[in-house]
Amino acid sequence: MSTTIAHWASGASYAGSGDRRADVTNPATGEVTGSLLLATREDADAVIAAATAAAPEWGRTSLARRTQVLFAFRELLNSRREELAAIITAEHGKVLSDALGEIARGQEVVEFACGLSHLLKGGHSEGVSTGVDVHSKRDPLGVVGIISPFNFPAMVPMWFFPIAIAAGNAVVLKPSEKDPSAALWLARLWQEAGLPDGVFNVLQGDKVAVDALLQSPDVQAISFVGSTPVAEYVYSEATQRGKRVQALGGAKNHMVVLPDADLDLAADSAVNAGYGSAGERCMAISVLVAVGPVADDLVARIADRTRGLVIGDGGETGEEKEADMGPLVTREHRDRVASFVESGEQEGAKVVVDGREVRPRGAQDGFWLGPTLLDHVTPEMGVYTEEIFGPVLSVVRVETYEEAVALVNANPYGNGTAVFTNDGGAARRYEADVQVGMIGVNVPVPVPVASYSFGGWKRSLFGDTHAHGTEGVHFFTRGKVVTTRWVDPANRPQGGLELGFPRNV
Ligand code: NAD
Repeated sequence: MSTTIAHWASGASYAGSGDRRADVTNPATGEVTGSLLLATREDADAVIAAATAAAPEWGRTSLARRTQVLFAFRELLNSRREELAAIITAEHGKVLSDALGEIARGQEVVEFACGLSHLLKGGHSEGVSTGVDVHSKRDPLGVVGIISPFNFPAMVPMWFFPIAIAAGNAVVLKPSEKDPSAALWLARLWQEAGLPDGVFNVLQGDKVAVDALLQSPDVQAISFVGSTPVAEYVYSEATQRGKRVQALGGAKNHMVVLPDADLDLAADSAVNAGYGSAGERCMAISVLVAVGPVADDLVARIADRTRGLVIGDGGETGEEKEADMGPLVTREHRDRVASFVESGEQEGAKVVVDGREVRPRGAQDGFWLGPTLLDHVTPEMGVYTEEIFGPVLSVVRVETYEEAVALVNANPYGNGTAVFTNDGGAARRYEADVQVGMIGVNVPVPVPVASYSFGGWKRSLFGDTHAHGTEGVHFFTRGKVVTTRWVDPANRPQGGLELGFPRNV
């Protein structure tokens, strides 16, 4: 049965006026489960107007009251996270345990935002000049737009909106059209937590909706996460209009295994980070760089573990409650990823584990592709140069540490990387040598905790501010510095005519 999925504006479901629609599918069964309303320009303007109307009063609401709403939201999210996980699994396909993991990492940012009163504290200097004091403060921006990708329908929006809302902004969230229902569940949760209507809104749609956000004079800032070409487009369009933008793009994350590494830890980590969420994570490991003599042994250990993974429908009604990995998000994406395996094989890579024929029981029509391990991949091959975004792990063999670093640094992306070694000096050197934003030492998916900031380098991020942590607080607020003089009756006369540039005395 297919249900209509609408927008959310001013605290209520909003159908808009357009008749363009897109199917939403359950990737494990291939069944169409939802009919998504795609915004027209007029619909988008109406949702933005709802946020514009709500922003001033929310920005003036006391920090104590705003924080109370954040705490209430956190409690509701924590107690009802299974509901949200089921929605994520039904539209994205990732198994329930993985969906719960994504919610937990988003919840971390909500918890960080609960303490925003500390982070919004300004400075105060008394007597910077005779009888003159200075204080600084940070104000909300107004309306901010968040445009999110399909692969984390809850966590990625939660990288941004808890801080944006705690700081006093109103939000328009434009989720991915592939899994749009999580955003609506979150909107209802905000309402239950006591957030005033209009402070959190959901705009459903495609490029039309995105362009409306980029072009609206009422939207002050854009947080985007998605593929690099769209990130670059969003950055260029929105900055041209004077908006503040953080646009996080694609990735090709390398895991470098040095000869002294613990190979069992490295093999476990490569499998977890390569195939978790079917490789549809921006921090997934997609390239394993085996340095020196470790390659044969490492590939054998990874292959062993990979063959033991359970692939299946890990959703509430699925056959495989204990599945490690679910399907890919759409049939088109599944076929694209499979075509990379084919081209890699034609170009000379060795297919050590082949996921192309995997069909879990009870789920024949889903978008399945099992974990695939390619060895002897070289940097010229398409499987290496393109972001595949699927369960395909490529092994590149190099002789030296220097070759490994040169490979990582020659890559146009710089999101995440990991080094596996038991040599602290080598790890320290790697950390200094690589041009990548997030680095793991014996940690394959080094997503920073909420109090630090998330962001890549090079073509993985356009803009200069990373997500959440103190950079997130800066992104969603604007600084003011106030210089004050009060007339002091005990110390007259003050003032007097002086047309020269004011000096501090
Ligand atoms: P995508 O770029 O296709 O879509 C992202 C958003 O942009 C969606 O809301 C979509 O509706 C919109 N969009 C798509 N095409 C558009 C266009 N031509 N004009 C305007 N808007 C458009 O990305 P996706 O497939 O949903 O997500 C996967 C990508 O996201 C991967 O490249 C992945 O690496 C990246 N990603 C990056 C991070 C990060 O932190 N750097 C995190 C998650 C995902």
